[in-house]
Amino acid sequence: MRPFRYEHATDRAQALQLATTPTAAAAAAHVAAPVQYLAGGTTLIDLMKIDVMRPEVLVDINALAGQHGEIRADDAGLRLGALVRMADAAAHPAVLRDYPAIAQSLQLAASPQLRNMASLGGNVLQRTRCNYFRDVTYAACNKRSPGSGCAAMEGVNRRLAVLGVSDRCIANYPGDFANALAALGAAVDVEGPKGRRVMAFEDLHRLPGETPHVETNLAPGELITGFSVPAGPWTRRSLYLKIRDRQSYEFALASAAVALDLDGGVVREARVGLGGLSAKPWRSHEAEAALRGKPLTEASAQAAAEAAFAKAVVHGETRFKPELGRRTLVRALLQCAAMEI
Ligand code: FAD
Ligand code: SF4
Repeated sequence: MRPFRYEHATDRAQALQLATTPTAAAAAAHVAAPVQYLAGGTTLIDLMKIDVMRPEVLVDINALAGQHGEIRADDAGLRLGALVRMADAAAHPAVLRDYPAIAQSLQLAASPQLRNMASLGGNVLQRTRCNYFRDVTYAACNKRSPGSGCAAMEGVNRRLAVLGVSDRCIANYPGDFANALAALGAAVDVEGPKGRRVMAFEDLHRLPGETPHVETNLAPGELITGFSVPAGPWTRRSLYLKIRDRQSYEFALASAAVALDLDGGVVREARVGLGGLSAKPWRSHEAEAALRGKPLTEASAQAAAEAAFAKAVVHGETRFKPELGRRTLVRALLQCAAMEI
């Protein structure tokens, strides 16, 4: 691992000040992302060890847990601080009862040790597990090294994306929790040198397009302080279904976060998120529109799944993924409709 400077922030103002003061060396060398916040460190330190990320300064934000470590549920919805640990959110009684898709997306992620350590803010900012991105001996990776090409296009790409990809990058977003946030129409609170702003969670991550190395709409030094999930008649009837090569400690090949508001058996509103096979946390407005006003049956679930994957683009080994994604979504919708609430 390369040498770096460690800074410990005691409050948000200090964290922002430390994160937005460029180091002289970084400014001179135009180093990208020279300062990184350190939360649980469970993915950042990994990426530093394998030389994919090379920050000069780490700003430890764990002391901000007092300010940004709350879990609160009320009539308006659910509020989760960015420093909440995954395990704590997953086990919270209100999250389990009123937002099961959120609880399950966290329970099914990583391992107990990681969930005890990792924060929600760090979780949503995890980076792709594309083999070529994580192995610096491969020169061609537009995400790691802009303009260098994409080794995955013709290479080992079974785990990568079919939705939202570009001809520069087909990496998938690997996380789980973010797909549930996208499905439930969450918002993310951000604080930066220019003040506070709130953005739709769907807008936090960017599609790869021509610039796969620019992964989010966060400005340098901006800090995620928390997430809000609006209350809705669909949140209790929600679930997260994750399909993976083994039943624990594995990333998704395909996943679906679904929520339904049913009137009898007819869909008043549906919320659909997809994961494992998309370039960013994915909300399928197409699937939601296909379900609205229809009885929830295997046929209507299948029609929604067709709509969700109508624009899928496959490369080599990813050919199986649209069908896996469709089946995952159909199963999730039928299970969700059968939930007793
Ligand atoms: P850190 O490593 O501390 O930070 C990650 C990034 O976020 C850094 O760039 C950091 O600067 C930035 N950051 C952190 N907090 C903030 C903030 N508040 N504002 C702005 N920037 C911030 N995840 C899943 O979803 N599903 C899985 O199945 C899964 N399996 C895993 C298996 C393994 C073996 C491992 C190692 C990880 C796995 N993960 C999985 C990923 C894991 O969930 C993440 O490593 C973890 O959630 C990251 O949180 P952290 O607090 O440790 O982040
Ligand atoms: Fe890099 Fe994206 Fe290609 Fe993977 S898919 S090698 S992350 S450019």
